[in-house]
Amino acid sequence: MALTLQSFAEGHWVPAGADAVDIPSAVDGRVVATASSTGLDFAAMARFARMVGGPALRAMTFHQRAELLKRLAVHLTERKEALYELSFDTGATRRDSWIDIDGGIGTLFAYASRGRKELPSERFILDGAFEPLSRQGSFVGAHILSPLHGVAVHVNAFNFPCWGLLEKLAPALLAGMPVISKPATSTAYVAHAMVAMIVESGILPPGALQFVAGSTGDLLDHLTGQDVVSFTGSAATSGKLRDHPAVSRNAVRFIAERDSLNAAILGSDAAPESPEFDLFVKEVAREMTAKAGQKCTAIRRVIVPRAQVQAVRDALAARLARQRIGNPRDEAVTMGPLSSQGQRRDVRAQVAELARDAEIVFGDPARVEVSGANAERGAFLSPLLLHCADPIRAERVHHVEAFGPVATLLPYDDLDQAVMLAQRGEGSLVASAFSYDPAVTEQLVMGLAPFHGRLYLLDRDSAKEGTGHGSPLPALVHGGPGRAGGGEEMGGMRGVHHYLQRTALQGSPAKLSALTRQWGAGAPTRTDGPHPFRRSFDELAIGDTVETPSRVITLGDIEHFAHFTGDTFYAHMDEEAAKANPFFPGRVAHGYLILSFAAGLFVDPAPGPLLANYGLERLRFLKPVSPGDSIRVRLTVKAKRLGRLPEYGEVRWDAEVFNQHDETVAQYDVLTMSARAP
Ligand code: NDP
Repeated sequence: MALTLQSFAEGHWVPAGADAVDIPSAVDGRVVATASSTGLDFAAMARFARMVGGPALRAMTFHQRAELLKRLAVHLTERKEALYELSFDTGATRRDSWIDIDGGIGTLFAYASRGRKELPSERFILDGAFEPLSRQGSFVGAHILSPLHGVAVHVNAFNFPCWGLLEKLAPALLAGMPVISKPATSTAYVAHAMVAMIVESGILPPGALQFVAGSTGDLLDHLTGQDVVSFTGSAATSGKLRDHPAVSRNAVRFIAERDSLNAAILGSDAAPESPEFDLFVKEVAREMTAKAGQKCTAIRRVIVPRAQVQAVRDALAARLARQRIGNPRDEAVTMGPLSSQGQRRDVRAQVAELARDAEIVFGDPARVEVSGANAERGAFLSPLLLHCADPIRAERVHHVEAFGPVATLLPYDDLDQAVMLAQRGEGSLVASAFSYDPAVTEQLVMGLAPFHGRLYLLDRDSAKEGTGHGSPLPALVHGGPGRAGGGEEMGGMRGVHHYLQRTALQGSPAKLSALTRQWGAGAPTRTDGPHPFRRSFDELAIGDTVETPSRVITLGDIEHFAHFTGDTFYAHMDEEAAKANPFFPGRVAHGYLILSFAAGLFVDPAPGPLLANYGLERLRFLKPVSPGDSIRVRLTVKAKRLGRLPEYGEVRWDAEVFNQHDETVAQYDVLTMSARAP
């Protein structure tokens, strides 16, 4: 029986409108679900997100929101089999669904982990160091990032109903923004099932996630400058949404990820007997058939040296002929149908367009052998390889995106031409280059980088662990310039920043230090009371400082240190040679000696709450220290964050080493772990 999809609005499931449309199975055409959003009050949904979801999320720290993502990921992992089962009807094989379902859950896990490690346990991010703005240091600048107060509207494509929703949801929620998510209708029943699992978990606060099964109605009319639209799909729809009067009038942030004629280039050095040639053929065949080619990142243009065209064509045809096309529920099937009859109609029409510029050299758009299903009732289509003999004169092969198992071979005569052909795509999500020659790779990268969001450079050394041309990864930017939409998603924290406003703060060091909870030069320090190493993490305050007495560094110290460590570099040991060096007045102390003596000056040695020093950052030696000079240290608590375990916290100390003239000779951050108060 067909499922009636409901929307989740203002904290309740809302039944479909009376005009619900049928959503047929890609495999056999039976109606799987029906959906309509008619009757939803979109203005009220936007209000609910802003008034209820936003404040609840913003009341949490980044770490608390990261924890929500992790709990969601665990919750979905335990229930994912139901999603796999539903996904067969979208045409996806189990392998295809792994990208969608496990890939989506993996993205939640990745953002949970990065949020915990890379973001503060705060409700804002301090972006960079204080900027000195005045001669006396009483007026400084700092940048903070804080969550927008609006709603993130996510409009997703049909091809990845789970991953598409989660890869947008994770950075938005981590940033602290509530989401209204709208899946593509043709596969909405999978997204619907996943959202039902999320709602049932009760993990997210009310208003953090709302869901529209059906069209977005007049939602965009209600958007303001505090809102964000993130869209994946066709260039036509993207243009419509970007040009929506409210979106352009209110400068609503708009992220688009859309059509992309991604290229794979076989290097001029990669002959048929080379490992790169085999890797290339394998990757192109995989990209054509995974998800039946319905991936925004799939290879559409196969750019090869003219001399290798026949060899590539034969090798690809042999691989494509081995595909078993049919009912994705059958484990032996390697490629399922397209997502809908409509999609198959579109792809056939696009192939007919391409065929005006190119010849079909593998497959027949009208005929396909199918196992375990009816080739006409399901949206089955053969993989189709085309060959365009004159890609310089041709236009369609660079503009028509056949969103199915379709790619076109384009020969090139030299590398400049290969680059030019790839650029004719006018901006793509990804291109790959298969070469073992560093000069070839560099030429391709310099020509392709400005036109692409990601470049996949595969060769024999990386082949075993390469993540695939078509795989967007949470750590790397996903998006591309020009035709690809000009947006960026994921990319670690870069994706979170879309939902945050960067604001420059100007004020006194004391004020900015108090606001940002980070000590900066000129802010108050506290030197009274016990040594800071005697204070627990909870007792330490920003600005707590040790000012040490000074210590003279003698020539004997330098020689002792040199022989003890084995570092007898001439600048420390040979007066004449040191003098000849333009940076030194003569023999100087080792930088590491200065660090070691500095530690000797500032430590409080007895066992106590300070547990370990786990590193230094930002280290700079700014002035040489000569024998007879003296040094002293100021060590100040600069920032604190909770540790990975409840027993300790992490403390960042600002260390500055001065000489007898109060000039800074070294500066760095010391990173320690300190025990929490009992
Ligand atoms: P669409 O642009 O038609 O749909 C994408 C999303 O936008 C869907 O959720 C759709 O909802 C929604 N949408 C459509 N019209 C509007 C509107 N007026 N206001 C608000 N939302 C709207 O793309 P398709 O998914 O139909 O795919 C068409 C083509 O787009 C493909 O053949 C392919 O060329 C390209 N595409 C590119 C992708 C990429 O990642 N680069 C991914 C998928 C497709 P609904 O389903 O309810 O219409």
